[in-house]
Amino acid sequence: MTKPLIIAVDGPSGSGKSSVAKAVARHYGLEYLDTGAMYRALTWYCLEQGLDSTDEQALVEAARTFPYQQGTSPDEEVITVGGVDVREAIRQPRISEAVSAVASNRQVRQILIDLQRSMIAAAPAGMVAEGRDITTVVAPDADARILLTAREEVRLARRGLQLGGSQDAASLAAQVTGRDAKDSQVTSFTQAAEGVTLVDSSDLTYEETVEALIAAVEVARSAS
Ligand code: C5P
Repeated sequence: MTKPLIIAVDGPSGSGKSSVAKAVARHYGLEYLDTGAMYRALTWYCLEQGLDSTDEQALVEAARTFPYQQGTSPDEEVITVGGVDVREAIRQPRISEAVSAVASNRQVRQILIDLQRSMIAAAPAGMVAEGRDITTVVAPDADARILLTAREEVRLARRGLQLGGSQDAASLAAQVTGRDAKDSQVTSFTQAAEGVTLVDSSDLTYEETVEALIAAVEVARSAS
């Protein structure tokens, strides 16, 4: 059997990493893991349960026990908590604003990181996993490691489009720039770590960005 191909993609919000990572997974016939969805689903669950985000032990207990299921197909997103389909709910601005507080808890992170590693290890052909700390913490031994960035104004515009133009500039900035600033306190995704290829998508189309990632994967594979 051929060795599974593991591709790690990190980047800030609005860098376009989810859609690009899915396309790369399809290109290589791999599974796909959106780790941000995991943090978002846990945040949704904590809000549903009325948990206080400053109650560390309650957060850790929730991370250990929340009834979570996530699919790994790049073609069909499956994310349920206790059987409830939360795909849309976890993208709401109220979750984007609350998620960093949950994701900054070190014990919570360790629980989700363990889950992510076991999902990556269970993919027979391999996986494209994307998030904030995949290249550095979750899968530092991945066959290819890429940091996908874009200039701030480009990321704000993309996220605004994704949200259908429903957000005013201040609320959008809180969800993108403010969230990145909070996330940067626990994960490092603004500069490429050693061995990680930086791809700046600011002036690239979606197709060009996918091509740039595939090219980076090919270079990394030929070097290994
Ligand atoms: O990628 P996305 O914007 O959906 O991520 C949502 C949030 O999940 C991030 O703002 C961050 O707080 C958290 N996250 C994380 N580590 C990851 C992926 C996401 O802390 N690997």
